[in-house]
Amino acid sequence: MTAKSTPEMASFRRRLTAWFRRQGRDLPWRRTRDPYRVLVSEVMLQQTQVSRVLEFYPRFLARYPTMEHLARAGKRQVREAWEGLGYYRRIVNLHRLARQVMREQDGSLQPDAVALRQLPGVGRYTAGALMTFAFERPHPAVDTNVARVLRRYFYPRARRTGARLDERLWATAQALQPRNGRTAWSFNQAIMELGALICTARVARCEVCPVRRGCQTGRPR
Ligand code: SF4
Repeated sequence: MTAKSTPEMASFRRRLTAWFRRQGRDLPWRRTRDPYRVLVSEVMLQQTQVSRVLEFYPRFLARYPTMEHLARAGKRQVREAWEGLGYYRRIVNLHRLARQVMREQDGSLQPDAVALRQLPGVGRYTAGALMTFAFERPHPAVDTNVARVLRRYFYPRARRTGARLDERLWATAQALQPRNGRTAWSFNQAIMELGALICTARVARCEVCPVRRGCQTGRPR
């Protein structure tokens, strides 16, 4: 499914990115483009709140600063380092990934979404997140926050879940991508941030939303 870029999309992109420059949080994984470090943050954030990841992320990276350090560690140590974060399947996969990448790719991740998805624990979203947040490529990364924002903004009458809606949201996120990779990085961070801080699952704070004017759900009547 494809979606066409429209003037409305350009305005959405502009407002959102400008807001992110003013209001976006300064998070440690936003200061790096190291694919390994971005990957660790993405894996941690999958099922854990930002406040908790802020505590664990530097500790884990101090212990395993590179893919090679992680690949060389034993299973038990790696599991210990993850203690407190839960959902241990994540670290099992991350450890397998590190070993595989050391063995087959000389320790480096490549900017190829299809190849990234072949790695243990890397799904469509994580591959997209690596493409944009580590490699600064214009690539969509639709997690639950992004999906919620897109649905409320563009498709308020769509059903809340379903494969068809998913495809539509990914196609919309693709059409929204700025051409420039660095701008795409900011835009993709911005839409995630909006879903985390303003257009949340619990409440849509439309009165302070930077894209309210064009939003199909929140615009002033
Ligand atoms: S206006 Fe409201 S519903 Fe629309 S994106 Fe903003 S917070 Fe979400």
